[in-house]
Amino acid sequence: MNIILLGAPGSGKGTQGEILSSSLGVPRIATGDVLRAAVAAGARLGEKAQRFMDRGELVPDDVILGLIREKLASPEAAKGVIMDGFPRNPAQATAVDGFLSSRGARVDQVVSFDVSEGELVLRAIGRASTEGRSDDTPDTIRKRLEVYREQTQPLIEHYQKRNIVSIIDGTGTIDEVAKRVEDAVQS
Ligand code: AMP
Repeated sequence: MNIILLGAPGSGKGTQGEILSSSLGVPRIATGDVLRAAVAAGARLGEKAQRFMDRGELVPDDVILGLIREKLASPEAAKGVIMDGFPRNPAQATAVDGFLSSRGARVDQVVSFDVSEGELVLRAIGRASTEGRSDDTPDTIRKRLEVYREQTQPLIEHYQKRNIVSIIDGTGTIDEVAKRVEDAVQS
């Protein structure tokens, strides 16, 4: 079962990805987490990525495509993955589709989290005060939302052509949203 979670920053993908990962028993892979760990470790990958992350821009595909392939090729991912934070643009979607099909697999389901922009900004401000992420400043948040709208949202259409997209209401309690995710994945 290969599932993509799509949604703007703050839409709840990370939290819901963790819940879904334990209920389905497949790992959640989050490129944002991998990049932040690389920055914290002072790794070369992190050095290349940090300035883009701090500006709220996408890290270039020459860095990301290798990372995606490496993660999808890992033994834990063989039975399926929950993709959180990627693909984030058409080139990454092509890479994911191509990699999976080379293994006789495919993207089985895309769950897109619908949350209004006003609510996303409020959540981001709340998260900035609790998590202290360096890319949760008002300017960066605005930029990340714009990048999402322009580069990532078109992927909904890409996967709608295959009829595998469920758009769910991302507002409400964690349990309420988790129930919608579960229903979408089972549909
Ligand atoms: P996230 O935790 O998914 O919100 O990602 C935080 C930041 O990491 C993003 O604003 C991007 O700068 C970078 N990033 C994460 N995943 C990707 C990706 N798939 N492609 C490009 N940049 C990414």
